[in-house]
Amino acid sequence: SRQFTRPLNDLANQFNSLLSAVAGAERVFDIMSEEEERKDEQDAVDVDELHGRVDFSHVSFGYEKDEDTITDVSFSVEKGETVAFVGPTGAGKTTMINLLSRFYDANEGVISMDGRDIQTITRSSLRSHMAFVLQDSFLFEGTIRENIRYGRLNATDEEVEKAAQLANAASFIRKMPKQFDTYLQVDGQGISQGQRQLIAIARAMLADPKILVLDEATSSIDTITEINIQEALSRLMEGRTSFVIAHRLNTVQNADQILVLNNGELIERGTHQKLLQQNGFYADLHASQLKEKMISD
Ligand code: ADP
Repeated sequence: SRQFTRPLNDLANQFNSLLSAVAGAERVFDIMSEEEERKDEQDAVDVDELHGRVDFSHVSFGYEKDEDTITDVSFSVEKGETVAFVGPTGAGKTTMINLLSRFYDANEGVISMDGRDIQTITRSSLRSHMAFVLQDSFLFEGTIRENIRYGRLNATDEEVEKAAQLANAASFIRKMPKQFDTYLQVDGQGISQGQRQLIAIARAMLADPKILVLDEATSSIDTITEINIQEALSRLMEGRTSFVIAHRLNTVQNADQILVLNNGELIERGTHQKLLQQNGFYADLHASQLKEKMISD
């Protein structure tokens, strides 16, 4: 899933170098929007309201010409549902997210939101309805308050703090000497990876999007922070359409739909129970991951 974070990380790196010349997230945000607008289709429109229904219809895609990274994938997600992408490394999970958020466009087929082809929506508008919580969510150099406010630039201090509260981030932030005015360095020194995730969740909470994209962390995070993250994430996911590249068994078990990818094809779909009963690819994957987990624990 590193490939997915690449476009976002590129942006994050761009921000960091820009920030030494230009202060403030607003300016950075402008630059990002300009970049996006440049690439929009001529007749693309802004969509003010989205409910969060998503359809993939016969979607195929390759990063290179004549390459099939995703082959003929179709599925539908009702608003508010949670979808877990599952499959071995290289199966195409990250690519699905790249397509959904239009870091790349499908070669064939249609992806739609609320029945509207996403290629007819401006990227800035599309992404204004989405929030991302990634393994290495980008934080920029600035205060914790600014980093959370990046989710919605016109939010008041109270709203920022409320979002932090809902994200289970407020208690660790309040323990720091400068609290919300704590200054974060580019490399995020001074706070743990788990705490960075909580800040990213607070940012997403403040953005209040209809669509969420989560790439769950695989690296070890201390137990208490992990519990905080899981609780905050389920609060964040409530009432939103969520796409998760799932690593936690808990997330997969609770997903409304598990989409099992292998070699770019959607080979199985269903709930955890249904897929276990089916005793196919997912059941095998599940068994081998359990075994792996037992060995590594
Ligand atoms: P997963 O997230 O399931 O591990 P990915 O969607 O990242 O799988 O990758 C699917 C396939 O596409 C892999 O063969 C991978 O090497 C390739 N791929 C991913 N990102 C890129 C990219 N930016 N350029 C070229 N090939 C890519």
